Order: sequence, then C-alpha cells, then structure tokens
Amino acid sequence: MTLNRQHSEHDAVVVGGGLMGASLAWGLARKGLRVCVLDEGDIALRASRANFALIWVQGKGLGFPEYTAWTKAASAAWPRLASELEVETGIDVSLDQPGGFTLCLSDRELQANVDALERLHNQPHAVSHPYEILDHSQTKALLPAIGPDVSGSIYCPLDGHVNSLRLFRALHAALKIQGVDYRADHAVGEIKPQADGFLVKGSWGEIFTPKLVLAAGLGNARLAPMVGLEAPLKPSRGQIIVTEKASPFLHYPVVTIRQTDEGGVMIGDSEEATSASLATDHGISSVMADRAIRMFPLLGDLNVVRTWSALRVMTLDGCPVYERSEAHPGAFMAMAHSGVTLAPQHAYNLATAIAAGSIPDDILAFGIRRFHVPARA
Ligand SMILES: Cc1cc2nc3c(=O)[nH]c(=O)nc-3n(C[C@H](O)[C@H](O)[C@H](O)COP(=O)(O)OP(=O)(O)OC[C@H]3O[C@@H](n4cnc5c(N)ncnc54)[C@H](O)[C@@H]3O)c2cc1C
Repeated sequence: MTLNRQHSEHDAVVVGGGLMGASLAWGLARKGLRVCVLDEGDIALRASRANFALIWVQGKGLGFPEYTAWTKAASAAWPRLASELEVETGIDVSLDQPGGFTLCLSDRELQANVDALERLHNQPHAVSHPYEILDHSQTKALLPAIGPDVSGSIYCPLDGHVNSLRLFRALHAALKIQGVDYRADHAVGEIKPQADGFLVKGSWGEIFTPKLVLAAGLGNARLAPMVGLEAPLKPSRGQIIVTEKASPFLHYPVVTIRQTDEGGVMIGDSEEATSASLATDHGISSVMADRAIRMFPLLGDLNVVRTWSALRVMTLDGCPVYERSEAHPGAFMAMAHSGVTLAPQHAYNLATAIAAGSIPDDILAFGIRRFHVPARA
C-alpha cells in the first residue's frame, strides 16, 4: 500500500529526541500538531545527557549579531519555560539566573576577554548585552572563595544555569502529556521525499509524514542530504569533571565551574577539535582541574566522583543552524551547540515557525546560506 497524506497519523515527524528534538516536538504539539518523535533511544550519543547546563549570553555573537539577540531573548524567556514545564509536569528544573562570571588568571587573560567583548559590541549592527569588568577585590566581594591567582573577571547579569538532566526529563514528560508519539529504538535509516511529504524508514518499518523536522544532532550530517539539505558540522569534544557534593560556596555559575543545585561541582568544559574517541584525556582534565583549583582553592580538597567526555553538536561557525529545504519545503533542520540556553527559543519561536511552515526574518539569518558567501558573491 502506498501511504500518503490522507493515511498519515501525524502532522509532523521529528527525528531525534535530544534537547533540540524534544523542545521542538513539545512546541509543535502545543500548536495543535499531531507529532511523532523517532529517536535512537538511550544508547545513543547524546550531547543532551552530557552538557554543562549553562544558560549563557556573555560573549555570544561575535561576527553574528543576530545570535546575540537570539540568545538574549532565550535568557529572558527561560523563566516562562521553567514555569510552564513545572506546571505541566511537576518537575522543577532548578533554574537559577543570578548572572555569570568569566574568571581570569592573569591581566593578559582578562584583557583578551575584554577585547573580545569590545569587538562584539563594536561590530556592525551590534546587539549589546550588559557586562561589567571586575578587579580581584570586586570579584571576591561576590565570589568569596576565589584564590589569589584570580586577577579579575567579567560578569554578565543575563547568565545562569539549570539542572539540565531534569530539563531533559521534564521535556520528555511534557511530550507524553501533550500526546506526542515518542518512539525510542527507532533510528531513521532513510528518508524518501514524496510529492506530498516524506517516507521515513528504518529497520522498524516506515512512516509517512507531510512535515519532517531533522533534529538528530550529529546524525543530521547523514540525514540532511536525503532532503536536499547539508549539515555544516565540525568535530568538537568536551570533557567534564564532577566532584563530590560540597556545602554551597558558589552562588553564581562561572563559565567553566558551577556548583549544581545538588551540591556537586562541575568543572569543564574543554574544546577539542576531535570526535575520534569519547575516552577522557587525562592531560586535558588535569589542566582543567589545575585552573579550577587556582580559581577556587577549596576544590583541591574535594574528591572527583565522575568524569566524562561528549561530542558537541558544533556547527562550522559555532552558531545555530535552522533551515528549510528549498527542494522539499516540508522538511526543516535544526541544530545548535547551545541547546540548553536556546531551549525556550526552540520550544516557542522556532516551533511556531515550523508549525506555520515558514521561517520569519529573525530566524532566516540562521540558515545555511551564510556558509556559502563566496558562492553568492
Ligand atoms: C561537553 C558539553 C557541554 C555543553 N555545555 C552546554 C552548556 O553549558 N549550555 C548549553 O546551552 N549547551 C551546552 N552544550 C550543548 C547542548 O548539550 C547541545 O546543544 C544539545 O544537547 C543538542 O541537543 P540535540 O538534541 O541537538 O542533540 P543530541 O542530544 O545529540 O540528540 C540527538 C538525538 O538524535 C538522535 N538521532 C541521531 N541520529 C538519529 C537517527 N538517524 N534516527 C533517529 N534518531 C537519531 C539521537 O539518538 C539523539 O537522541 C554542551 C554540550 C557538550 C557536549
């Protein structure tokens, strides 16, 4: 039997059930669409289970001012997302947005960070974000546990963090409540565009959908060409160290150190241009630990309880990619390295655009055409 639009049980199929796919599927379902999520399941490589959980605005958007605006709006929308998820699922994602710090261990490092922020704020069409440059004693007034090696810091009041595993759980609980048909162990092997939609296939069978959203993280690289798209990704591995629980001492997230709502301290996250292996690299983790102890000497007394490394969904310029296929206009693709930070934008604005079937101007800037500048010139 040939399946077609009349026989489709779903208005949209989302491929991938990580933070991106779950945020989008929830948003689409809230717009009234009947949504199915096809996911590899818990054995998959998932950045969503391994991230640092920051909601971070500071420094985002150098060379891409639209990204600064998009990220600022995400930070502002986070209280709404946290509260709606809690009302719907009863799960508190421990949102905390007191502002965040970049700590610097030399005057040179501080100056390099200040220069980068100035470049961001001086670029054409710049979108500003608030920040303060603090010396050692001003930093110590807010972060009393810093060590003498901290020469200063940059503080941005828009930054924060969440419990990202609970965010992931809350989104999946919300999918169930919204009636989303979530199918684990449903890896998609092939997508066949049809006149009125897509035939999506795997070893589990096939399903027809008029609207398709590729939100498969690194898996988008293989799937995108099947619907006339490309996924410009580059390798990027990150490592994280987690300590035993400690009494609260760190009341603000630092870009590489944060104390979770449960008391453990996360130290991370490195950026390594490889995806060759997920083994942790002790050389890198010892540099991370050494810098962390110089920033907060009391960390030297805490035991490490876990370390891991994970692959980021890193695009060529580090900024999100949202695209609609010109060849097959029912197909959309979304991928972003900052899937925690941007979760409200994905659940609300991007899902609304995909539900409507068109991408508005503020989202168009995130398309893949930006990687084709020489070809367009
Ligand atoms: C070390 C590290 C630290 C990070 N820190 C932060 C941070 O502090 N703040 C922040 O905002 N972001 C952070 N991130 C990024 C954030 O985790 C990601 O942006 C986000 O998790 C991406 O979610 P995703 O759903 O696109 O990808 P993933 O979580 O990788 O999920 C992709 C999903 O697609 C599924 N899939 C793949 N191929 C197929 C297929 N063929 N068929 C069906 N399903 C498929 C997989 O099974 C998986 O479930 C960090 C990431 C890393 C690795």
